[in-house]
Amino acid sequence: MHPQKRIPVAVLGATGMVGQRFIELLQGHPWFEIVALAASEQHGGRPYVESTRWRLPNSDMPSSVAQLPVFGCKPEALPDVKIVFSALPAEAAGDVEIAFARAGVAVFSNAKNYRMDPDVPLLIPEVNADHIAAIEQQRKQRGWSGCIVTNANCSATPLVMALKPLQKQFGVSKVLVTTMQAISGAGYPGLPSYDILDNVVPYIGGEEEKVESETRKMLGNWEEGHGFVDAPVVVSAHCNRVATREGHLECASIELERSASSEEIIAAWENYMPEPQQLKLPSAPERALLYRREQDRPQTVRDRDAGNGMTVTLGRLRTCPILSYKFVMLGHNTIRGAAGGSILNAELCVHHGVVG
Ligand code: NAP
Repeated sequence: MHPQKRIPVAVLGATGMVGQRFIELLQGHPWFEIVALAASEQHGGRPYVESTRWRLPNSDMPSSVAQLPVFGCKPEALPDVKIVFSALPAEAAGDVEIAFARAGVAVFSNAKNYRMDPDVPLLIPEVNADHIAAIEQQRKQRGWSGCIVTNANCSATPLVMALKPLQKQFGVSKVLVTTMQAISGAGYPGLPSYDILDNVVPYIGGEEEKVESETRKMLGNWEEGHGFVDAPVVVSAHCNRVATREGHLECASIELERSASSEEIIAAWENYMPEPQQLKLPSAPERALLYRREQDRPQTVRDRDAGNGMTVTLGRLRTCPILSYKFVMLGHNTIRGAAGGSILNAELCVHHGVVG
């Protein structure tokens, strides 16, 4: 179902890394139109162009937003908005997102606060589109006419997208993943250059726990009358910050429940055509997953923009002497793992008439 006319939306945290991605990706969107921007109170309604240093490498600040005032994140400051895309840090997101949901607005959030709540979808449309059924229960239980829908941690996202077709066809019982995460994943200004140039930092606070728990929720089921049931998969994550700008590269070893050949696994990835691709949702890439057969791909700089940053690129599938198979994957953290993922979530919810 396509909306009859463009739905008015706002971006919260519009001045930050993910907020700027939202603005870039929403330019010319066929269903959504940015009518308002918000960030912290310090901007006091000043125009976006005066409040923000545009940091995205391949675009300029769109002229359509340059003169929009940047208000504080209060529902009363942004009337007439049906959807907000939230790029707020966890410290700010908690109360703000609830206030908007209570005021009847659909909130598509990138923050960690509500991802694991028992009535909040942690959504990747290619993986668990059926989890949007939780929205009805959320509204009923909380007495909201709005809602909160979250997207996953930016490292869990490519991992879960790679695992889903394998889970469906062969079963996945164990996952060991090591990430090499870009600097932009820490927002702006992120780490001091002195700490990250010429360096790898083997610790990102809370990240390993998020990858482990969110993966189980997303690969699990929504059972009507019962709620979310985690997938029975054991996940162990090592998360590292490396000196790349964008794109999280990850190496995984997995244990399958049924035996499969390499060609069967690659075919499962290559033939994966979930709902967003079948529906041709505006932000869905033609292919959710792309397997590269060159022995040295995916590479962060060369592959992160596949499918306009929405395709997860896979490669280097080989047998693992400890678990069944090992492979490499890459996802764009501020696009697929953040703003682009949230916009696709909103498109799925609008298509199903849950939001809009
Ligand atoms: P960021 O660059 O630090 O931007 C944060 C934004 O939030 C800015 O617009 C900032 O506005 C605003 N803000 C800060 N404190 C606020 C407050 N008290 N009230 C209202 N607005 C406030 O961070 P980011 O990387 O864009 O991340 C945003 C969110 O997305 C975080 O929850 C993060 O965990 C999540 N996320 C990030 C990535 C990624 O790759 N970066 C991926 C997935 C999820 P001011 O200009 O007013 O300070």
